[in-house]
Amino acid sequence: MTVPVEDYIDNYYVRTLAEDTHYPTLTSTEEADVCVIGGGLAGLNTALGLIERGKKVALVEAHRVGWGASGRNAGFVAKGYAAGEVSLAKKIGLEKAQKLVNLTKNARKTIKKRIADFNIDCGPVIDGVLTVSFRDRVEELKRSINEANDNFGLGFEFWSREQVRAVCKTDKYYDGVFAINDFQFNPLRYVRGLGRAIAERGCKIFENSPAVKIEKEGAQWVVYTPQGKVKAKDIVLSCAIYMEGLDSRLENAAFPVQTYLMSTKPVDPQILKNAIDTPYAIYDTRFCSDYYRILPGNRLLWGGRVGLWAHPNDIAKAMVEDMRKLYPELAANVEPEVAWSGKLCYAPHKMPQIGQIEPGYWYNTGYGGHGLCPTTAGGEIVAAAIAEGDQLYKEFAPFGLGYAGGKYGRYAAQMVYWWWKLRDIMDI
Ligand SMILES: Cc1cc2nc3c(=O)[nH]c(=O)nc-3n(C[C@H](O)[C@H](O)[C@H](O)COP(=O)(O)OP(=O)(O)OC[C@H]3O[C@@H](n4cnc5c(N)ncnc54)[C@H](O)[C@@H]3O)c2cc1C
Repeated sequence: MTVPVEDYIDNYYVRTLAEDTHYPTLTSTEEADVCVIGGGLAGLNTALGLIERGKKVALVEAHRVGWGASGRNAGFVAKGYAAGEVSLAKKIGLEKAQKLVNLTKNARKTIKKRIADFNIDCGPVIDGVLTVSFRDRVEELKRSINEANDNFGLGFEFWSREQVRAVCKTDKYYDGVFAINDFQFNPLRYVRGLGRAIAERGCKIFENSPAVKIEKEGAQWVVYTPQGKVKAKDIVLSCAIYMEGLDSRLENAAFPVQTYLMSTKPVDPQILKNAIDTPYAIYDTRFCSDYYRILPGNRLLWGGRVGLWAHPNDIAKAMVEDMRKLYPELAANVEPEVAWSGKLCYAPHKMPQIGQIEPGYWYNTGYGGHGLCPTTAGGEIVAAAIAEGDQLYKEFAPFGLGYAGGKYGRYAAQMVYWWWKLRDIMDI
């Protein structure tokens, strides 16, 4: 079926959506225990955790459920955080870092359980993610695998360059790291499946209902949308980078990084196999990584590049150019079908921002380019904090709402982005 593109931005997942349940626009005054703002994975996971703990929840989404990064990403479900385990341990110590990483390992299992429990049709779900190295540094890679396995129990497997090049047929790659427990799925179908599950369990979801103002009224918060409002004791802001004017304290603490994806028309199976001979999802070790996987019907999903302002003039052309550097024959034979972009919400520390600004005013955001497992963990943490007074959220205090440039954020971000890119180029 084809969903009207004005609802979602046009992309492969939208074009292959199996159902299109619309939730109503908010036009009344609703009373709830908690109002969640934002219907991406951070908001939905929070809502689910609250519903499972007996809370009455209303969720308002500016567009459609999964309209943001959650419904248009690459679909690589991997443990850990955008910050990486090593820098995490450096900042907060090994023990605390282990605790936070374990949350994402559990989240990965939770996602699989939810797919089964809620009967979410988001396959094919394929285990195995391969990270390939652009650098000829085998000893360093082995050392980091050992450290990750010893310190964080990540279960990484070393792949020699012969193993890597047997499946990724390019001499640009050296050795690799294989994670058998990470997996790939169709993210929009998963997000919408979660939406259905929480709606069936009593959460009131409102689409096309942007929160435009938040006010305190007695002991309650009031979240206003253009045609209605929700009154609730607690509110959770999970708007990522799309919030546009709702709360400057959150907006000033993160910056947008735009990244790009393309899916192709079916590729000749032999040409595909001559380049990529594996069902595993693949990405490389640079910040500005290429990431790709084979979709059903021999289509190829290809992503890469990051930027802060506009799209490249022609995203598909840019993606094919990147592909050509690795797989010239494949690039000469693919026909792009649809290309799109999405914005990542990054804090300078590259960790999620989870906490409470004032009593009952929660935030759950900042998941960057690595959000599928962490949003699952973050949703549970915030839900447990609100419903049970759980204190685990305080472990995220070191990664708070530091200044990301305020109204000059984009300029600050550009500097950070250039620095990260320079590190890729200079191999540091
Ligand atoms: C191209 C791309 C590829 C990626 N690939 C991967 C990957 O393979 N693996 C991985 O783990 N992560 C990946 N990510 C990152 C991952 O998608 C995000 O970290 C994650 O989805 C963030 O979820 P979120 O709910 O915080 O934000 P979003 O999904 O962006 O949700 C925020 C929602 O809030 C809504 N909103 C904003 N303002 C308001 C308002 N005022 N009122 C109501 N609603 C509002 C928006 O409409 C939006 O739906 C990728 C991201 C992109 C863009």
